[in-house]
Amino acid sequence: MMEKLLTDNDVKKKIEDNLKIIKENVCNAALKSGRNPNDITLLAATKTVPSSIINYAISLGIDNIGENKVQELLSKYDDLSLNNCNLHMIGHLQTNKVKKIIGKVKLIQSVDSIKLASEISKISLQNNIITEVLIEVNIGKEEKKSGVFPENLLELLENISELKAIKVKGLMAIPPIYEESSQKRKCFSKMNKLFIDIKEKKIDNINMDILSVGMSDDYVEAILEGSTMVRIGSALFGKRKW
Ligand SMILES: *Cc1c(COP(=O)(O)O)cnc(C)c1O
Repeated sequence: MMEKLLTDNDVKKKIEDNLKIIKENVCNAALKSGRNPNDITLLAATKTVPSSIINYAISLGIDNIGENKVQELLSKYDDLSLNNCNLHMIGHLQTNKVKKIIGKVKLIQSVDSIKLASEISKISLQNNIITEVLIEVNIGKEEKKSGVFPENLLELLENISELKAIKVKGLMAIPPIYEESSQKRKCFSKMNKLFIDIKEKKIDNINMDILSVGMSDDYVEAILEGSTMVRIGSALFGKRKW
């Protein structure tokens, strides 16, 4: 059977409705975890979404968006209404592409090696800026995923703290796919524990303000376990079809 064609207005109405639901869920989960809903940042994950639709989401009040690929980020960059919206790099970043995005992104969420961090610091220094980053943790220790293993996190942070033009603001993770809500929570709780442990160590130049965990299928569990930033794609824009 042929799928009914959606008009631009249908798509926009759907995004508006989705956003309302997500905000309500975020708010309830924040309150349930004893926190102020305003302390949770909602980031729209915009991979494969055209600039016009992203700009519509921004017009609805979305003020943080994240792209996964340097090429895609650059191809949309000039068309995005970024006056009141921060652009994040949330996907795996190759060292040789760092120079293309420095100065364009507010936060690089996917730093997982000293090599990548050194390049970010070097290029930032050349541009007279300091770039803020999160460290991506491979919390499930999955072979095919990027991110530093939990047991290597402290050493990486200590090395990064020596770099001049990079500032660590927190941690990011993409956990394994779990069916059970309790499994999801257990994994997020592990991340939160790492986050708190590192915060208590008070390492120079290393802040733990942002814990970026939670996506469309698990953002409620993530918030219940301490997430301060959720990255939501399909629950907002619909299944990726663009
Ligand atoms: C795609 C993506 C998301 C959002 O995923 P959804 O399941 O569609 O919400 C979040 N974070 C990263 C790093 C992503 O690549």
